[in-house]
Amino acid sequence: MKLEPVIGLEIHIQLKTHSKMFCSCDNRGEYQPPNTTICPVCLGHPGTLPVPNAEAINMAGRAALALNLHVNNYSKFDRKNYFYPDLPKGYQISQFDEPLAQDGYLDIETSAGGARISLERLHLEEDTAKLLHDIGKTLVDFNRAGTPLMEIVTKPEIKTPEQAKVFLQELRLLMRYLEVSEADMERGHLRCDANISLRPEGETKLYPKTEIKNLNSFRAVEKALTYEIARQTELWNQSQAPTGTATRGWDEKAGVTVEQRDKEALHDYRYFPEPDIPPLQIKTEQIKSWRESLPELPPQRRQRLQTDYGIGKAEARLLTEDKALGDLVLRIVAGLSNELEGDVKATAKLASNWIVHKLVAILIEKQLLVDNLTVSLSQWVAFLLMVARRQINSTNAQVLMRRMVETGRDPETIVESENLSQISSSGAGLEEAIKKVITGHPDQVAQFKAGKEPVIKFLLGALMRETKGRFDPQAAEAALRRELVD
Ligand SMILES: [Zn+2]
Repeated sequence: MKLEPVIGLEIHIQLKTHSKMFCSCDNRGEYQPPNTTICPVCLGHPGTLPVPNAEAINMAGRAALALNLHVNNYSKFDRKNYFYPDLPKGYQISQFDEPLAQDGYLDIETSAGGARISLERLHLEEDTAKLLHDIGKTLVDFNRAGTPLMEIVTKPEIKTPEQAKVFLQELRLLMRYLEVSEADMERGHLRCDANISLRPEGETKLYPKTEIKNLNSFRAVEKALTYEIARQTELWNQSQAPTGTATRGWDEKAGVTVEQRDKEALHDYRYFPEPDIPPLQIKTEQIKSWRESLPELPPQRRQRLQTDYGIGKAEARLLTEDKALGDLVLRIVAGLSNELEGDVKATAKLASNWIVHKLVAILIEKQLLVDNLTVSLSQWVAFLLMVARRQINSTNAQVLMRRMVETGRDPETIVESENLSQISSSGAGLEEAIKKVITGHPDQVAQFKAGKEPVIKFLLGALMRETKGRFDPQAAEAALRRELVD
């Protein structure tokens, strides 16, 4: 019997609003000393009244539209009751049966091809306090209590661990483009529980699911699901497929999932409408204005880079995933187009060649981000103009780029001070160097003259070393050949 995985994800994303979801406390408590960004509202003191944060609703509404969800004109907040030390009120304000938005999708692309992941819903709620487990005791930091959270639930349509990982990465990218969250998993800005069950291929029925918790990175999601598929396959093969829902925690060190006490099954959250907050009535004009305010999103940018700029698929992906790098290339192309004749695709090719292939290598080597660079746009444009006008050869241009990154100085200044310019295709320097190479390598010269054509590459290499690459390689080769046939 062939089995197939059925995976669904529940994702919580912290919104980077200025204040918290229901009070005016600073929402950047993550960077403040524990228990300093708190007030009677987020501490759940009796008699306090929550007031929904308009900025959070705007962010969630725009995120919903970017996820192709239908935003409801009417939704409401509910109380989710449970008792836990991280929940000062004894309940969490969430949205139960009438969420902010529902029925959407996100397209992804994995090594196995494209897939559309359907989304069940998106709703708003408040985050809980943070528990810090010390040796023998537990400390509570209420700074996080009341941080606006979006919960996004996918349909159980994800088919592989890789799809789950790529979905989350695409979701993070989308949140960053929308500027609603850093969605950093390691920092808990984006948290994910994964539900998984198996079923015989071809069946449509859903079997009891296992919820995996404690997933703190994209890799952990992929690894935990891979592990769980193997574990559950084994159970199915022994005719011991899970008969009830279960909760398991991912143990990163051991690389296994471990059964946890099933809180879910024990709980009855006794949801009821939040009496202190009136229902959310969102006007159609509001939704329209959210839609109009959406920036260019990752799928659109990937497409535009390929269609309008002729940039290859892999490069277009890179320039989308690293938004700062993509922005830099687009600005350089615009700057170059003003200076250079010719079509935008040729200009884009020049810029992306140098930025994607050469600059990225330097950034990786130096462990820098584009945002750390002190090189200005006009300096990049000046640099690429030199390359385009063949005022500098490729080898020296790479040296120049490195110096620009290191010093932030103007390319002209660096070329002058380090003698990097392509002097000319002829001249005393070149003639002299050619003579030196010819007398220095009599054997190779003889071989070439005897018809061994590839030897020219060796001699040219020697010449470039001799002249420190200051001459245009094509012109230098032509001059070398002239000298050799004489
Ligand atoms: Zn507060």
